[in-house]
Amino acid sequence: SGGSNSSQGRSMATAQPAQEERLVVAVRVRPSLEATERCIEVISGGSLLYDDGGKSRPRQYSYDHVFRENDTQEQVYKTTTAPLVRDVLNGLNAAVFAYGATGSGKTHTMLGPVPRKKPQTADRAPPTATCDSTDVSSQDIGLMVRAIEDIFSHIESADVDSCRVSISYLEIYNELIRDLLNPGGPLELREDHGGQRITVAGLSEITTSSRKEVVGLLLKGNKARTMEPTAANQTSSRSHALLSITVQTRTPLGTKQGRLFLTDLAGSERAKKTKNRGKRLQEGAHINRSLLALGNCINALSGGARYVNYRDSKLTRLLKEALSGRCKTVMIAHVAPESKHRDETKNTLVYADRANSITTKLQNSVYIDEFKDFPTKHYQSLVSELRDEV
Ligand code: ADP
Ligand code: MG
Repeated sequence: SGGSNSSQGRSMATAQPAQEERLVVAVRVRPSLEATERCIEVISGGSLLYDDGGKSRPRQYSYDHVFRENDTQEQVYKTTTAPLVRDVLNGLNAAVFAYGATGSGKTHTMLGPVPRKKPQTADRAPPTATCDSTDVSSQDIGLMVRAIEDIFSHIESADVDSCRVSISYLEIYNELIRDLLNPGGPLELREDHGGQRITVAGLSEITTSSRKEVVGLLLKGNKARTMEPTAANQTSSRSHALLSITVQTRTPLGTKQGRLFLTDLAGSERAKKTKNRGKRLQEGAHINRSLLALGNCINALSGGARYVNYRDSKLTRLLKEALSGRCKTVMIAHVAPESKHRDETKNTLVYADRANSITTKLQNSVYIDEFKDFPTKHYQSLVSELRDEV
């Protein structure tokens, strides 16, 4: 098929052959925030039952992992992200997405409980979480900080002195990219190497050897996310936050580079509302372009489409690498267990189910020195793009 031709074209550009890799899909059920009827029951580490309110029999869904309400941040980290960290240190790219409706627990997973200035209304105050404390207790720390700490621990224990760790952290809000480490005006995307590499012009990339400094930067960056204190959840739910951690290791063969993308996506309920007629349409059209485009890519990839359009949004252009096979990818879909969130929960379960069938072609270590043979790469990628378009 044309699809396999083009991937052959790509693998010729690197030294090692591609390996089939399936997108890993996990579902995390957050604790119930109120004593009420539930629509979800976890039945094992890989499956759950969904109840549509008695219209039909409860339906079972299976995924690579299902985390129940009292599973810890550490368990989620160890299962989903720790294996990727090892790959990144070996020069591979990897990505973790937190997907789900607003209030389903995405930010909790990625960062931990975010301190709030104003307490929410009574029914939103979680009985178990410590989200009103100003600093996050160590067991609540999210995947982003855990990944950074883990990378530094590996480097220190392996005694690698030729390692460089750098991070960048950005937000996509209303299709505008903002640097969260150095907030300022919107930044533009740039394509290098014939579209092989997408970069954000002017995005700060901070190199550090101090894990403490990185963690500090991350927490400061998160404070810069678009939020209005009065409606924090509503506004922040429209922005995507993308942390990228780059690890470069000098080896006798060249400089090996691995990159880990950790993404806290905008609330998925917006994507549905965008399809509505009327007032919402205008508001949603812009806000959700990225999430809709991601959904379209996932649909196309899971259906084995030969042409996948990554160009529709900033998010998909930035994550092209993560979705199209140069990368190991884990999606953590978040759901709320309360019956009143039944429809959003169902949407997320179905979306995650579809994502479950995506296969990508993972390529082994890329030495960044390879980019020196730019013209060849450029034509190879043009050829493969043209093939995809036939
Ligand atoms: P989202 O980012 O998807 O909008 P949040 O991460 O802000 O959702 O979670 C909504 C609320 O639920 C917050 O008060 C958060 O602290 C709480 N919460 C979410 N997941 C968990 C969890 N696994 N354990 C404890 N509390 C959680
Ligand atoms: Mg959030």
